[in-house]
Amino acid sequence: MKGKTVLVSGAAGFVPSHLSEFYLKKGAKVIGIDNFLTGSQSNIDILQKFKNFVFYEANVYEKLPDLSEDNIDYIFSMASPASPIDFSKIPLEIMLVNSEGTRKLLELARIKNARFLEASTSEVYGDPEVHPQVEEYVGHVNPIGPRSCYDESKRFAEALTMTYRNLYKVDTAIVRIFNTYGPRMRPDDGRVIPNFVNQAIKGENVTVYGTGKQTRSYCYVSDLIDAIDCVCMSGIHTPVNCGSPDEYTILETAQLIVKLLESSSKIVFKDLPPDDPKRRRPNITKLKQIAGYYPKVSFEQGIKSTVEYFTSLL
Ligand code: UDP
Repeated sequence: MKGKTVLVSGAAGFVPSHLSEFYLKKGAKVIGIDNFLTGSQSNIDILQKFKNFVFYEANVYEKLPDLSEDNIDYIFSMASPASPIDFSKIPLEIMLVNSEGTRKLLELARIKNARFLEASTSEVYGDPEVHPQVEEYVGHVNPIGPRSCYDESKRFAEALTMTYRNLYKVDTAIVRIFNTYGPRMRPDDGRVIPNFVNQAIKGENVTVYGTGKQTRSYCYVSDLIDAIDCVCMSGIHTPVNCGSPDEYTILETAQLIVKLLESSSKIVFKDLPPDDPKRRRPNITKLKQIAGYYPKVSFEQGIKSTVEYFTSLL
């Protein structure tokens, strides 16, 4: 990647900061953009230790920084808040970044002749009736539900990406990211792994929503970054599921985390949020065909690194 320039929107966020670091370590110049709506300055501080990192504080759906002097080879559209607790707090921002924000970045890709990658999500499948989810499945999404600001705007972002490809021949890629965890997640972002790990570290009640029979499949962040890179470099343009197929019920997740941490926490049950997907697991056949990729980091190893990170913040 020496001599290449990569633009990452949302660079202060969890996954994008890891992706930025990955390309910086490969010798690329990385241009990061973030408005710190949900991202952290501490993630940017890590990236600023690399001399090839340039940062702009900007809101991508309002105005991109002046990049007229830069050659850009790859653009990663990753700026969207993604945690369910954000859906009720900042729904308009989520919809705007995935519509106008994505459009601005696609325009930039068109002008710069860059490869564009949309970081989409398993949420485009909604509460899936097909299990495990294959890329051909078109989803089961409630357009007016509490998750719709994210689900539907990501579906729109995918449509916009394909439209720029069809109309303007922009070189595009779409990755559908499934549940991912690891260091640099916000401890208060409300998602299952940060919640359970922090509760278990502090000996507080571990809060399982509903009966805990719903499932998720967890991917450690370094495995996800490898997958995204493989998809980007492969030249493929149809959507690719990126994640781990190792599926756990939420109750199993809670029990495993309490056990791994040898925590005194008790498991308690709380109300299930509306429209909470019942099952989620990617079919990663396509990813394996492209990348020979299979998640390398076990749940136990990944949780250990995540615990170390959250402990360091206390
Ligand atoms: N969940 C839970 N307790 C928590 C946080 C989440 O039981 O403290 C459940 C949530 O209801 C969902 C699953 O864990 O079924 C994953 O939730 P998360 O917010 O991580 O993301 P999602 O996959 O729903 O987007």
